[in-house]
Amino acid sequence: MTDVATASTPALVAFDLDDTLAPSKSLMPEPMARALRALLDVVPVCVISGGQILQFRDQVLAHLGATDDELTRLHLMPTCGTRYYTYDPGQGEAGSPAGADWRLVYANDLTPEQVAEGFRVVEDAARELGLWEEQTWGPILEDRGSQITFSALGQHAPLEAKKAWDPTGEKKGALRDAVAALLPALEVRSGGSTSVDITLKGVDKAYGILRLSEVTGIALTDMLFIGDRLDPEGNDYPVKALGVPCHAVSDWRDTAAYVTDLAARIASARAGDSWGPRD
Ligand SMILES: [Mg+2]
Repeated sequence: MTDVATASTPALVAFDLDDTLAPSKSLMPEPMARALRALLDVVPVCVISGGQILQFRDQVLAHLGATDDELTRLHLMPTCGTRYYTYDPGQGEAGSPAGADWRLVYANDLTPEQVAEGFRVVEDAARELGLWEEQTWGPILEDRGSQITFSALGQHAPLEAKKAWDPTGEKKGALRDAVAALLPALEVRSGGSTSVDITLKGVDKAYGILRLSEVTGIALTDMLFIGDRLDPEGNDYPVKALGVPCHAVSDWRDTAAYVTDLAARIASARAGDSWGPRD
């Protein structure tokens, strides 16, 4: 009976962030936080997103209200898992961008040489194309560790100025193409309204989930992934293509309802079992 029950329950549940746990760039609502706490009581949980760790802190951690015990089962994978954080009270780094008790387990960053070359190539290409602006708000080029970001008007440009800069996407596209041709070893993508992002090649959510499987020893087929963009064009699709069991949601309300049921289901399946690794 125990075998049947454990076979139907995941050993780890992984989530996309934006539009899955919270509205895009917004705080995680309390009903979602409550459902996530209930899930953390019964199974390890991972949150993986293309966003930075600060986004995890502001959108999720600040509103989660979880206990230390619950947080020790939470795995954070910002920038598609090129960085990996776990909760380790007393062992975290002072000044960690995730918060005091979070430990950076690994960071798969661009090398200093890749960053220096990237900065040079992007600036040269932007000047050549007439896209190196004089009036800017904050730095145009930013080293984000695992990613270089070019923001035509600077990091802190007002939304209106950003929208007006390249409404057709033509300027960004031209810069992307020019830079991609000069940096064949790296991935160059059009980012937000005025930005071009440079990352290591082959980094998407599948990359992060594979790393998670390596570090936790949990098989891909024993995981469950929940995301809002599991369609073939979506940024969650690479996880599905890996063969991880997936559940598609439309928004955080949908997620909260599903997770509340899932937590109850796992709790009842585990009733009588002691907490711990399966097998
Ligand atoms: Mg999403």
